[in-house]
Amino acid sequence: MGSEGSVARIIGGTIRGSKALSALLLAAIAGSVLLALLPPLVLEQIVDALAEQRQVTVSLAAGYFLLVAASGALDAAKESLITVFGQKATHHVRSAMSAKLLRLPASYYVETEPGVTASRFVNDVNTVDSLFASGVISMAADVCRLFSILLVIFTRSIGLGLLLLAAAPLLFWMTRAFQKRMLAAQLESRVAVGRTNQQIPETLKNIRTIRVFHREDYMRRRYGDAIEQGYRAQERSNFYDAVYSPIVVTVSALLIGIVMAASAQGGAVRSFFGMSAGTAAALIAYVGSFFDPLESIGMEIQNIQSAVAGVRRINEFLREPEREERTKTPEPASAKAPAVQLSGVSFSYGKGEREILRDFDLTVQEGESVLLAGRTGAGKSTLVKLILGLYEPETGQVRVFGMPPAAIPETEKRRWFGYVEQQFHQIPGTVGDQVSLKDPRVSAAQIQKALATVGLWATVQSLPEGIHTPCGEGLFSQGQLQLLSIARAIVLEPKLLLLDEITANLDSETEGQVLAALKAASLHRTVLSISHRLYEENGGRRVVIGGEAPW
Ligand code: ATP
Ligand code: MG
Repeated sequence: MGSEGSVARIIGGTIRGSKALSALLLAAIAGSVLLALLPPLVLEQIVDALAEQRQVTVSLAAGYFLLVAASGALDAAKESLITVFGQKATHHVRSAMSAKLLRLPASYYVETEPGVTASRFVNDVNTVDSLFASGVISMAADVCRLFSILLVIFTRSIGLGLLLLAAAPLLFWMTRAFQKRMLAAQLESRVAVGRTNQQIPETLKNIRTIRVFHREDYMRRRYGDAIEQGYRAQERSNFYDAVYSPIVVTVSALLIGIVMAASAQGGAVRSFFGMSAGTAAALIAYVGSFFDPLESIGMEIQNIQSAVAGVRRINEFLREPEREERTKTPEPASAKAPAVQLSGVSFSYGKGEREILRDFDLTVQEGESVLLAGRTGAGKSTLVKLILGLYEPETGQVRVFGMPPAAIPETEKRRWFGYVEQQFHQIPGTVGDQVSLKDPRVSAAQIQKALATVGLWATVQSLPEGIHTPCGEGLFSQGQLQLLSIARAIVLEPKLLLLDEITANLDSETEGQVLAALKAASLHRTVLSISHRLYEENGGRRVVIGGEAPW
């Protein structure tokens, strides 16, 4: 299956896939915009009736109440529908991203820090969520509300309409200026809080050094500075918050005042601004509700801006090149092909970086044991990764039993190579799962055989539930965990075993155990190993990479 494309296409799919919900959402938005216009109109009639000393009918009063209630209810319905729709869309975005994750080549995982991918799944998708919660849809609704209020005002008082139309850009600019300053202050306050929080454990950790070298004053000042910064930022944020509302109230009072004063004039001005008492009451209500959408639109623009960056990063992730899906194992090019063959291989991490390997040749015949030596940083681990197909060489060829490693289907790789690293990576699950990696092709008998080969079967058997014992902290020693990684590597009987410094972290006694396990695991296999103590007595061939090692 190809890539799911972009966030826009996923959201388009969500709209098409939930037509009823989308229609309901549209209806709720239109309804809430229209319904919000009605209560002031009824109010106008009530006030006019009162001014003319007519009776206000019960149905008019009840109508006013019902309209206000219905408008509130529809607003709530609109908000919930937006939330439901947003959750659906973000769910689809997350699903597409998880599916993508499974189709990425191994090199993606090698080259991309896990934190970066995690941030795409969490932070960036959250911005898409906020795009719905208070972004595009609510902004469209707010713009509609703003224009509909303006329209009704125009039908009642052209003068006030023109005034508001002229004042709106200015008001919007002021609102944005306040919002930006307030956000900046909030951000600074959060940073300051983070700094103070970080300083406490840091001080506690270094308390002895601080005492011994009499650095208490310095620490106190540093802590004081951070707290001071936090206070200042918080004060600024409070100031903007406190000043904004009075300004809005003053401005709307000013506008209404101008209109009222103008309506009280005679002649042409009166016909331009003139109105009944009821209309005046309605207009006051409209002007009051004119600022709400204006303020929301400011925040919505903010959210959309940050969402655009998030969407761009998600799109980049969705466009990552995928591994080719190969389902059939290609036959080795020739029956007599060497187990590993590198010819003229050059490699560097990224353009313009230092060449780790240059014109490197290596042939390992089937059944051979080769020890790879070289000083630290020479490129031994890199070489193993090239053989595993995690990287592509810039020039030259890598062949495993005559095949380019990238041509081996990912699902088949375990049958071709076993790879053991310095560190054991535990997966959630049972002891057996550590060996099978939850691969359904691996039988219990195969797990037992692999464990027996590395000398761990008796230990596992003595566990309360055998291979079904949950694998937790402290169940195995460091050396036993390394034996477990060897069992994991050999359980599907690969012909080639690649070992990268697997005894580096072990004491000499445990190392002996691991080496014995390796000897058993290496029988009838081709072994390429990075570990100078291994195979020396075995007569294995030694290849030095990047100049002679110091030992
Ligand atoms: P050691 O004996 O310390 O394990 P090594 O021979 O295995 O060393 P490599 O891990 O292959 O060396 O690294 C070779 C060089 O490539 C080093 O200079 C290292 O800093 C660099 N290198 C390794 N991995 C990456 C990477 N993902 N991106 C960029 N440079 C890298
Ligand atoms: Mg290494």
